[in-house]
Amino acid sequence: MAQEITVPSRDPEWFRSVLPPARVEEFLAAITEAHGLLNRRVVWNVNSTSRGGGVVELLRPLVGYARGAGIDVRWLVLDGTEGFFEVTKRIHNRLHGSTGDDGPLDERARRVYEDVLADNLQSFVDRVRDVDVVIVHDPQPAGLIPALRARGATVIWRCHVGVDEPNEIVRETWRFLLPYVADANAVVFSREAFVWEGLDRNRVAVIPPTIDVFTPKNYDLQPQMIRAVLRVSGLVADGEAPEPVTFERADGTLARIERRAGIVEDEPVHVDDRLVVQVSRWDALKDPVGVIRGFGEHVPLETRAHLAYAGPAVDAVSDDPEGARMLRRSIEERNRLPAEVRRRIHLITLPMDDLDENAIMVNALQRQAHVIAQKSLAEGFGLTVAEAMWKGRPVVASRVGGIQDQVLDGETGILIDDPRDLAAFGRAISELLSDADRAARMGEAARERVRDRFVSVRSLLDYLALMRRLLR
Ligand code: UDP
Repeated sequence: MAQEITVPSRDPEWFRSVLPPARVEEFLAAITEAHGLLNRRVVWNVNSTSRGGGVVELLRPLVGYARGAGIDVRWLVLDGTEGFFEVTKRIHNRLHGSTGDDGPLDERARRVYEDVLADNLQSFVDRVRDVDVVIVHDPQPAGLIPALRARGATVIWRCHVGVDEPNEIVRETWRFLLPYVADANAVVFSREAFVWEGLDRNRVAVIPPTIDVFTPKNYDLQPQMIRAVLRVSGLVADGEAPEPVTFERADGTLARIERRAGIVEDEPVHVDDRLVVQVSRWDALKDPVGVIRGFGEHVPLETRAHLAYAGPAVDAVSDDPEGARMLRRSIEERNRLPAEVRRRIHLITLPMDDLDENAIMVNALQRQAHVIAQKSLAEGFGLTVAEAMWKGRPVVASRVGGIQDQVLDGETGILIDDPRDLAAFGRAISELLSDADRAARMGEAARERVRDRFVSVRSLLDYLALMRRLLR
């Protein structure tokens, strides 16, 4: 049985503090329009998890602000089996062009996939009416689309994954999914280059992701608070004893930072040290080993800068052997470096037991950075880039996937044409470290770019425009 997730309402009025008045008025007018357009319709979202991952990061604000605006938006999570998730993980990997566990997408896989969705169907039949709109997120629930359409509902398939240059594996996976997806009234991708071949262009929309600027991940932190968070979580030291830190959770309640980060380092970063930060999972496509080597070999010691690569704690996550392996390889890479280089490199694992606590650590770390790196080898969108830009930080990043839609090369950061070019990566970082004015100018431009394009309001407006198209 699918499970309904409740999301606390978020107040659209909050945007007055960060967006230009005209933009807020546009948003409030859109809300009024949405009430008329949607009337007694419910907008359902369906995905396959309520915890962790980029989709959840996007869904919470989408549902939260819409509910705060008095629109009946709800969220259902599928119930899957181990076999089902094996198949859908295979689909996910293949949509990125790699074979994943090497298992086939054959008729057996299709049966596993369809059987689980058939078991879930009753939960939808009981709830979704023909006037309703259903936004189906990613491949896991895509197989529900034909049945939902048959009920008369308006169905949008939202695909969060994509690659710039599809190979045959990707195309084969599209073909596996097309029978379900082609039935949707509209299909949404994060960027133009991700749009599948073989879809009716009239049904396609492009909606880049956005970030919620009022969560612990992104809300403003005063310098005092940044230091306090970093100190108490063990991320920097400055001789002062850490004081307990209380912070506001995403739901508005107060909490304390209870845990410390795990760190592989010779000695702690000092509060006054200049810091280069990459926040990413321990994943080959985020290239932690390349980040370490590029920084170690191509950012001169004279810069006196330190590198912090921060990812989620992997020891606790037994179902992510890839993460643990990549962390181990990163530690080995660090150990290979000469002592004076090694002592400038800090490998951080952030506790994941409390996601708000994890988020505020990410926030403080990004704000403490002089330069943010995102040396991905491939990237769907790269939320970490928007998160860093919102904090007024210049970003040195690879020219791949959605990063290109965010970073304006030379204006809000520096794009590296070849993500494997470690010398160019190191050079760009060194340039920004040696020119504080330029870095500050880029940081300001970066924040303005996010304000303009990547704050929740924009994607909410985009979804409304799409529904206007579909429901009229
Ligand atoms: N993230 C986090 N804690 C970590 C590492 C990453 O909260 O220790 C978050 C990060 O801030 C971002 C998301 O995970 O919001 C990663 O999204 P992104 O699109 O950058 O990459 P993905 O991991 O989805 O490939």
